[in-house]
Amino acid sequence: MAQAPQEEAQEEAQEELQDELQDELRTVLWPEGDGTPTRVVSCRHCGLKNRIPVPDAVMTPERIDCGGCSGALFLTREEPFEGLSADAYLHGADRRSLNVLRSVPVVPGLLHSVLRYAGDRPAQLMFLSEAIRCDEEQFPELVALVDLARKRLDFPVKPTVYLGESPHMNALTTGVEEPVVVVRSSLLDQMADDELVAILGHEFGHLHASHPLYRTMASVLLRSGGTAWQPLRLVSLPLHRVFLRWGRAAELTADRAGLLACRSLVTSIRVLLTFAGGNRPGTTDRTKIRMEPFIRQCRELAKIESGQGLDGMLAEQLSMDRTHPHVARRVMHLINWVRYGNYLNILSGDYRRRRPRTY
Ligand SMILES: [Zn+2]
Ligand SMILES: [Zn+2]
Repeated sequence: MAQAPQEEAQEEAQEELQDELQDELRTVLWPEGDGTPTRVVSCRHCGLKNRIPVPDAVMTPERIDCGGCSGALFLTREEPFEGLSADAYLHGADRRSLNVLRSVPVVPGLLHSVLRYAGDRPAQLMFLSEAIRCDEEQFPELVALVDLARKRLDFPVKPTVYLGESPHMNALTTGVEEPVVVVRSSLLDQMADDELVAILGHEFGHLHASHPLYRTMASVLLRSGGTAWQPLRLVSLPLHRVFLRWGRAAELTADRAGLLACRSLVTSIRVLLTFAGGNRPGTTDRTKIRMEPFIRQCRELAKIESGQGLDGMLAEQLSMDRTHPHVARRVMHLINWVRYGNYLNILSGDYRRRRPRTY
């Protein structure tokens, strides 16, 4: 079916904005005259080691071919990360917390049923009551986007998808055995398809890393006086703050999954800036996102946070009771992972594969 002229114009404007932001981001991250950083990437087709410029690899991976066999060095958007394990992209702080939670001594069968009734059933019943279940008949376009994100990350289980009403732009995931993804309607009003794929990829990151399982476990521990368990009792902070801190680290892991699903750093950052108030529909000229000033703002915050003085302590204090890290922090973590972490390795097919689930 032909597109309405208004839709076409919107799409064109989005593409134009994407190109502008792409150029801006590249300039601010790798200014000319600083020298171009390079990285060695092994070809997944012929094994040849290629030295490639990092800015090109990050911004336009689809244009980089192997010098030996001419095959695409990085996976295209159509290629899933087959067998990808969440361990490949876990944020360090998330990994450390998960290791503690994984070491909680529990009877496997008991854990299974407790979590099913503490986590899966209440959520399923709640969304069945108050949200709209989506499938091939109900909102098939949304279901197709969910499936696209799932396939790109090669997440093996198809979740139940719900659309729920809310003025707050967010999505959420729950369910230990039977995953549920809930998309809030305001996201559909404001986000383009590639941005939704980034958001849905973020949610699959939570599922992939079994965050709902450990989130449920954490809440069961909190409710049942889990402080009796020695390693947690040794933690000096109140327990709920320990879990909140882990939750914030888990969000950084999920942001990485979002990027792996949409495979565009600009799109991932655009989503975060929209959450922060940018790019409002109907007022896009007045709230048009610019990358360069925001990256400068993020760097200013990072400098303050890393400081030893009162400002550094204050910055830490401000995030202590939050479930999500602040936007500027999320953007910086993502950029640092792309520049210095294993993002490009994963994109080239070099990543840890998962083992079958054991719980
Ligand atoms: Zn090759
Ligand atoms: Zn999240």
